[in-house]
Amino acid sequence: MHLVIIGNGITGVTAAITARRLSPEARITLVSAESAHHYSRPALMYLYLGHLRYTDVKPYEDWFWLENRLELVHAEATGLDTVARTVQLATGHALAYDCLLLATGSVVRTAGWPGQQLRGVQGFYGLPDLESMSRTTQGIRHAVVVGGGLVGVELAEMLHSRGIAVTWLVREARYWQSVLPPEESALLAAHIKSHDINFQANTELREVLGDAQGCARAIVTTTGQELPAEWVGLATGVQPNLTLARAAGLETDRGILVNTLLETSAPGVYAAGDCAQHRQPAPGEVAVEQLWYTGRMQGETVAHTICGQPTPYQRGQWFNSAKFFNLEYQTYGRVPAQLAADTASFCWQHPAGKHLLRINFRQANHAVTGVNAIGLRQRQDVWERWLREQTPINEVLTQLAAANFDAEFSRQHEPAIRREFARQFPDLPVAPATRRRGLFGVRLG
Ligand SMILES: Cc1cc2nc3c(=O)[nH]c(=O)nc-3n(C[C@H](O)[C@H](O)[C@H](O)COP(=O)(O)OP(=O)(O)OC[C@H]3O[C@@H](n4cnc5c(N)ncnc54)[C@H](O)[C@@H]3O)c2cc1C
Repeated sequence: MHLVIIGNGITGVTAAITARRLSPEARITLVSAESAHHYSRPALMYLYLGHLRYTDVKPYEDWFWLENRLELVHAEATGLDTVARTVQLATGHALAYDCLLLATGSVVRTAGWPGQQLRGVQGFYGLPDLESMSRTTQGIRHAVVVGGGLVGVELAEMLHSRGIAVTWLVREARYWQSVLPPEESALLAAHIKSHDINFQANTELREVLGDAQGCARAIVTTTGQELPAEWVGLATGVQPNLTLARAAGLETDRGILVNTLLETSAPGVYAAGDCAQHRQPAPGEVAVEQLWYTGRMQGETVAHTICGQPTPYQRGQWFNSAKFFNLEYQTYGRVPAQLAADTASFCWQHPAGKHLLRINFRQANHAVTGVNAIGLRQRQDVWERWLREQTPINEVLTQLAAANFDAEFSRQHEPAIRREFARQFPDLPVAPATRRRGLFGVRLG
């Protein structure tokens, strides 16, 4: 069997490594236009910040691929014939395949703003973007970031690290409004502003103004302000990269349509990761998943199917994590921006505005349904178990120390968290805290 994989991101690479393990005899070829070797996309910002070098963000040594007989082709795939089962490369060569995996990721979404083509206006997705940002932000004084998601905050932090004055435009009334409940939005917006970021809610980009050399010099907002900006970062989201799939006539919608086995509409062609769209997502689940760990899970799952072990994709518990400057955010399970009718929400905040814990639970049986933690680090395995076993919130609060990475934090804040719960939910008694025992039975928290 010859398995050809287009894209060497986390999805394609996980599929390749899994397929090698399951099918030692298979020929496996990884095609990628962006980089000769796989690197960690979420680590891109640390290259700009100077915390890591390119070699540090490559999880595998360069000899790994040859050693595991994974053939690497550094070229763009420009055509796909699903009847003849061939992939056309920009180099003029063609690759014949028995099975094909499209793991083509996403592309930056833009809105066609006037001035978008000027030098110094760009999105931030891959190595060419990093290279262009490093070049065009050299020596500049003012930058504008447009769009309020996780890439927006990364750009703000990157620019701030070089002493560039940053204005951040967010269309919604509050920060990351579509994802976060109001308390989390307010806490994070205050934290971002405390780093001298000029955060402007309810404000959109109208156009970018250029100078005589075709470089960005200012922007105009929908509120009519003109702000100096020698660099403009477009962080208004990403969309599945469908170029190859569409050209080949595969069924697409927002993404490449796949069934639970991640099969596309063409025989022998699969799609996974950011570029795929589930035809029938389970209730409450998203059809297009654009996360690192879901890419890894989809890559692993599809490799099983390709190697003769048909395996439906099941994501399991939702989780995500991010950093907002130095403040960590984690979420497990479901914590929607708008609370569902059958769910209650407990939220504790430290008065200093740097720590928040929200636990959602079902009104009927008090089973926990999701948690948001800001400024405190929670253990994923413990929360996954509580969510899976539908543990009642009062039991969770009794055992809260088990989920805390930081024993010091437990000692300091857990009594206050339980007191606040008793105040908000006086009808749900919480037993005294259980103590964690470390080596030799020493009490930890
Ligand atoms: C700046 C940034 C930070 C992020 N941080 C996080 C984070 O902290 N946590 C998290 O969960 N997620 C994060 N994400 C999202 C995460 O990186 C993606 O969900 C993940 O990388 C998707 O993996 P993928 O393999 O499906 O696609 P990609 O990583 O996009 O890889 C696809 C590859 O295919 C190549 N390709 C596409 N078409 C062709 C073609 N025709 N020929 C050849 N090659 C082609 C592309 O060039 C690309 O290299 C971040 C994303 C960005 C941009």
